[in-house]
Amino acid sequence: MKTLIVANWKCNPKTLKEAQQLSDSIKNTREVEVVICPPFIYLSALKAKGAQDIFWEDGGAYTGEISPLMLKNMGVQYVIVGHSERRKYFKETNEIVNKKIKAALARGLKPILCIDKVSQIPHNLSKEVIIAYEPIFAIGTGKPCNPERAKKMRLAIERSVGGKNPILYGGSVNSQNIMDYLCQAGFRGLLVGGASLNLKEFVDIVKNVC
Ligand code: PEP
Repeated sequence: MKTLIVANWKCNPKTLKEAQQLSDSIKNTREVEVVICPPFIYLSALKAKGAQDIFWEDGGAYTGEISPLMLKNMGVQYVIVGHSERRKYFKETNEIVNKKIKAALARGLKPILCIDKVSQIPHNLSKEVIIAYEPIFAIGTGKPCNPERAKKMRLAIERSVGGKNPILYGGSVNSQNIMDYLCQAGFRGLLVGGASLNLKEFVDIVKNVC
């Protein structure tokens, strides 16, 4: 299976032109599947494979929300759920995150569940869910998790789900440290925030996967 590199652009970049330049420069390789998750407003123009969030209903009176069916009909395949910034700024609870996971799965979308503790994993998690271990202290700080510590968490997550879900690492990943997580710590891929908005850095991340 290819290494999965997920780019979480968060609330960036500021123009569609910049988004297009970034997106056009990133290509899948023989070793890597790249999933760009731009802000919703750019999804259609970029034909992006990933989204940063999802609502749990397919439609109705829910101002401002984007539904699983809309994402599916737009060609989206992957959706990030439970990112720590959504938990922190939008008060998303494990219960809300679980509703989003179920809604995504019901429409054939692959959820990428972000967690920082094993206790955030729902019981009886479907094997279709990709788990991203994202230690809070490492997100956007330039202070990545020690690979040995990340490996211990990967093993703990694997034990808790019976080893059936792909597990990614996220938190201050850059082109120089990716192999610490892919080789040394044994993750199946990476969730990349800040570095995915720097064209040269992101191209190097994809290139440096071997
Ligand atoms: C993230 O926001 O999911 C993330 C991993 O960010 P960064 O790579 O900037 O730490």
